[in-house]
Amino acid sequence: MKCRLCGAKASIHMRQHKLALCRQHFLDWLPAQVERTIQKYRMFGREDRILVAVSGGKDSLTLWDILNRLGYRADGIHIDTGIDGGRAYASESRRRTEEFAAQRGLRLHLINIVAETGHTIPELIALTPRGRDKPCSVCGMVKRHVLNRIVRQEGYSVLATGHNLDDEVAVLFGNTLSWAGEYLIRQGPVLEAEPGLARKVKPLCRIYERETAAYAFLSGIPYLQEACPLSTGATSLYYKRLWSQLEQDRPGAKLSFYLSFLEARRKGLFAAPDSLRAELHPCSSCGQPTSAPDRCSYCRLLERVA
Ligand code: SF4
Ligand code: ZN
Ligand code: ZN
Repeated sequence: MKCRLCGAKASIHMRQHKLALCRQHFLDWLPAQVERTIQKYRMFGREDRILVAVSGGKDSLTLWDILNRLGYRADGIHIDTGIDGGRAYASESRRRTEEFAAQRGLRLHLINIVAETGHTIPELIALTPRGRDKPCSVCGMVKRHVLNRIVRQEGYSVLATGHNLDDEVAVLFGNTLSWAGEYLIRQGPVLEAEPGLARKVKPLCRIYERETAAYAFLSGIPYLQEACPLSTGATSLYYKRLWSQLEQDRPGAKLSFYLSFLEARRKGLFAAPDSLRAELHPCSSCGQPTSAPDRCSYCRLLERVA
């Protein structure tokens, strides 16, 4: 297979785009696709200060790399979760992120969950019934809370996350299987700011996971290949496997599912009745917005484990 642009040996063949490219042309092509997504959904401009949530995996490091290559003002934030899994997962994730930031001279905020909450994420999970059933829901809630605080405290205009197309399709598929209207109305490339809540964007939402992996590998990004040890058995991984099968049989299926959803949403198919929109008010303890009657889930969690 040859590169469509220069005829050299192709490094990647993307059946869904009917496109094969050599290393150099692929490394130029992917940032151009991300730029198109940023423009199309009006995510941010070059005057904005962007904070990228960086885990140390291929997607977030690829995103941070691309935003800086494109000339955006993007700093990083890494949350050390204390998740070990017997293989020093958290410290290895932090090490890769620090190495990446140091190589490129980028500004990185390091947040330690123990310093924030007095516990590691596995401890918080073990101490709560919800955590034992759904570890990612506790971990995700704690990280969202901390990220939201830092974005606002440090004066960033927007938080960018490395969710790729495969992630978005898995979440959308799960929400569709249960017709979870309150989640469907909120899923999309941009989550607008609300009082007390930072704006969030997903510049890789139209990029296949295989493409972010290829970009990280071909550009020599020192990413951590290992998945979080607590993610084994997650339903989203099962949905991803199902969708890989569909994509194998029908190249482009993932992109078409996601874009058709966005188009249906744009036309108002998921226009929400007021009953689906949660009423938000400031948490009586920390002040962050919550739909709970008094204190937010983060503050209630911390009280329970104190
Ligand atoms: Fe947290 Fe789940 Fe992500 Fe692991 S996979 S870091 S537990 S949200
Ligand atoms: Zn080429
Ligand atoms: Zn609170």
